[in-house]
Amino acid sequence: MSKKFSASMFDTLKGAMAEQRSGGNFKDILKTEIGRNYLVRLIPNVNDISKTIYHYFNHGWQSLATGQFVSCVCPSTVGLRCPICEERVRLYRGDEDDKKNAKMLGKKEQWLANVYVVDDPSSEENKDQIKIFRYGKQIEKIITDATEGIDKDEFGARIFDLTDEGCNLRITVEKNDGGYPTYVSSKFLRESAIKGMTDAKIEDIYEKLFQLDKVFEMKTPDEVKEMLDTHFFCEVSSSTPVAKKSSGTQVSSRGSVEESVEEPEEESIDEPTESSDSDVQDKLDDLMKDL
Ligand SMILES: [Zn+2]
Repeated sequence: MSKKFSASMFDTLKGAMAEQRSGGNFKDILKTEIGRNYLVRLIPNVNDISKTIYHYFNHGWQSLATGQFVSCVCPSTVGLRCPICEERVRLYRGDEDDKKNAKMLGKKEQWLANVYVVDDPSSEENKDQIKIFRYGKQIEKIITDATEGIDKDEFGARIFDLTDEGCNLRITVEKNDGGYPTYVSSKFLRESAIKGMTDAKIEDIYEKLFQLDKVFEMKTPDEVKEMLDTHFFCEVSSSTPVAKKSSGTQVSSRGSVEESVEEPEEESIDEPTESSDSDVQDKLDDLMKDL
């Protein structure tokens, strides 16, 4: 973040988010299932092109206090310090149990984009609707390849074009060896018309986009610390950390998910299963860069 993000800006942002939140934006996020293919067209935010894609960091784990999945947007997304990231760094320096706990507090990089749903085998209702597409590093690579990488001559701006010169993204959801969804076979297709699309309809779509930076609640660093204390250290009133004691518990960073609306689709490839020392150092360097 090059621009200064002030406390008053943050207050304004929170207020706007609270307003938006009452509408319940999770229902607007496209849900995908393993074994299916989805066709979408990315929509540019022509009124504020820098808001076409929202890039953020996320923490989520199964609460050691309640067993329920808890998550939050990492405050580093908006350039603020993050108590969870700080705890992760501390744990990475510790013993094996600590490292395991550090993994549980994993920081995930994610993106949101507005998409026009061309085909959705999971929901006929979603067809011809605008949805929020949430994705991770695998899809991000496919999009970056298409805009500025190896496929840029073939696709480029056409991946954001709603006319018959635009290209659909085919989201292919497969199961990886760990049983989690993987999106690596997704790809942009050659240009095609979207059935029923007109210039007037495109104008209309541009006016109905979701405000991607207001989809998730933004917790303050203090609120994030409270979440960490409650759901990781299991503190009620005492200040004794108990997370370490519970390391015997089978905890997975993507364990069974109760509140599935909050759980992002996993791209388990992103997360190493084992970390060598140099690996940890790399991660630490990476983390420190973010702080
Ligand atoms: Zn964080």
